[in-house]
Amino acid sequence: MAVRTIRVIGDEILYKECKPVKEMTQRVEELIEDMFETMYENNGVGLAAPQVGILKQIVVIDVDDGNQYVLINPEIIEEEGSQTGQEGCLSVPGKAGIVTRPQKVKVKALDENMEEFVLEGEDLLARAICHECAHLHGQLYVSLVEGELMDTTEEVEE
Ligand SMILES: [Zn+2]
Repeated sequence: MAVRTIRVIGDEILYKECKPVKEMTQRVEELIEDMFETMYENNGVGLAAPQVGILKQIVVIDVDDGNQYVLINPEIIEEEGSQTGQEGCLSVPGKAGIVTRPQKVKVKALDENMEEFVLEGEDLLARAICHECAHLHGQLYVSLVEGELMDTTEEVEE
């Protein structure tokens, strides 16, 4: 396992469309392990593969609910309600902004065994799912910020 370098805003890889994962390989397994390690090292609650320079549709999330979520080729299939709150991103260090997201989402994805599952998330988990899935389509939260980006020492970043 290794902590990988996080790409930061301005790096063109963050604005590209990621490719679906076709099969689980040792490389992909290692990537997922490294993504978790990189996320924890940086006190994040989520990380998407393009943030470590890999254009694959892979997301890892840990919002401290006792689960480590791996979402491969995720697709948000339902959204409900809305929540407005502060959001940050490991690729936009030292900044945060107010973003409105669905209160609840359902996402369909493959797990590490390439088996399909549906995950329902509310509150922070819903926010993390939306934020990370957007990374896979080259979108950063900064384009959704209401008002100004703020400087922060906030440690919870995605
Ligand atoms: Zn992010």
